[in-house]
Amino acid sequence: MSTDDSDALYEALKGFEGRPTSSASVGRDPVNEPMIRHWCEAMGDTHPAYAGPDAIAPPTMLQAWTLGGLSGHPADSADSADSADSADGTRRSSAYEELSALLDSAGCTSIVATDCEQEYVRPLRPGDTVTFDAVIESVSPRKTTRLGTGHFITTRMEIRADGELAGTHRFRVLKYAPAAKTAEARQGDPKPLRPRPVVNRDNAGFWAGVAEHRLLVQRCAECATLRFPWLPGCNACGSRTWDTVEASGAGTVYSYVVMHHPPFPAFAPPYAVGLIELAEGVRMIGNVVGVPYDKVRIGMPVRLEFQRVDDDLELPMWRAGVED
Ligand code: ZN
Repeated sequence: MSTDDSDALYEALKGFEGRPTSSASVGRDPVNEPMIRHWCEAMGDTHPAYAGPDAIAPPTMLQAWTLGGLSGHPADSADSADSADSADGTRRSSAYEELSALLDSAGCTSIVATDCEQEYVRPLRPGDTVTFDAVIESVSPRKTTRLGTGHFITTRMEIRADGELAGTHRFRVLKYAPAAKTAEARQGDPKPLRPRPVVNRDNAGFWAGVAEHRLLVQRCAECATLRFPWLPGCNACGSRTWDTVEASGAGTVYSYVVMHHPPFPAFAPPYAVGLIELAEGVRMIGNVVGVPYDKVRIGMPVRLEFQRVDDDLELPMWRAGVED
């Protein structure tokens, strides 16, 4: 695409800023105790504020009250003209679909959700009727990321309870032309590499251990609870002090999936990915090697080994077909 073309595209994209994608939409169900209970059970959140006669909904449920479920909102079945009025007063516009189609036609056919931000203004309580409006807040200039080149789209939703602002939910996606499909990328990268691990201050010790062929598990210095993956604090007691123990390398397949689709560069499907329960009790994810993908079974004993996958990367993997 020439610079002129991309300037013209950006101008057209900017024209979508401020356009509503839905107005006066009504939550499928009022805020209710069963949905709160299911959420808390799924999250393992036992905070007392979310139960009992004065319960509030967990703030992070904000978006849940706006979702239409598999069958969508009643208004979704209305005609697909630019805006449709439904019996409940909802107005839905096709602005987002038009914006997507414009980006598709410019070659930005892939999409990835990048992040979400929520602000909480007022708690939601069982019985509250939720209404919401959503608007295309911004479209970024053309950006190149590791995935490809495209534009970030930010949608802002305002969620109200009985007419009062309860919170805002911003959702951002990158709509892009995949980098792997450009000729330059294919030339410069003859052999695709596995993704690099994201090493940060919280997990650097784990990867330092891998470099020495030691699988290190964090142990809380207060209550001795083991934890994996690496985290700054203890989920059991909240302590931020910890040391490590080196795993023996014995484990069993707690569960597994066989990856068929989607294909990722550097991976040749089908292959098995195991959730391995270490002899020490914590679980971690890793490739199961040494047996065909369709011979992996729950409960199978596996043993740790470190495999070099390319010049710069060694990974812990789990070899099956060994007797402990
Ligand atoms: Zn602890």
